[in-house]
Amino acid sequence: MNKRRAVFLDRDGTINEDVGYPGTFEQIRIYPSSFEAVRRINRAGLAAVVVTNQSGVGRGFFSEEALRVLHDKMKAAFLAENARLDEILYCPHFPASSVPEYAVACSCRKPFPGMAEKAREALLLDLNGSYMVGDKVEDIRFGVNIGATPVLVRTGYGNKTALRLKEEGIEPAHVAADIGEAVEWIGRREKRRSGNP
Ligand SMILES: [Mg+2]
Ligand SMILES: [Zn+2]
Repeated sequence: MNKRRAVFLDRDGTINEDVGYPGTFEQIRIYPSSFEAVRRINRAGLAAVVVTNQSGVGRGFFSEEALRVLHDKMKAAFLAENARLDEILYCPHFPASSVPEYAVACSCRKPFPGMAEKAREALLLDLNGSYMVGDKVEDIRFGVNIGATPVLVRTGYGNKTALRLKEEGIEPAHVAADIGEAVEWIGRREKRRSGNP
């Protein structure tokens, strides 16, 4: 049986501006190109899965409940544009947290693969055939660690990350201007994969 594949998407700096620990949806500015990008992922039959490190929870900046409300509103904002985010997974942990529950060296903080494993079980995914789109070194390392195809975007910290990846000798499969271009590139790859011209 062919398993479903996914495009994993980082959140801050990839689908919305990175403003630093936003705790409410009202602080979120979604990039205009994100809606069409997610529609394209939906049309391609790939799962759209957001994977986001949210240590703001462990740092005490906002609660996990507030984060869930933010994510529900984000999903609704995409649905209003006919774009479906299949899952939004987050890591709330922060090793130096004053809350014991969050003060753990977890396996879900990117670049560790925990969120991808959770998504794989929930959506029966083939991780090797999946993609990871993000703006930071940990996003690209996460993509490598789960065996997916990593794509760097130049939004958010992307330009700094491009330099750091060179220093560290890691090469993403593609570097795109933004999420829109990243998903166009994925679309071209998918066409080649399916043998269509
Ligand atoms: Mg980011
Ligand atoms: Zn975690």
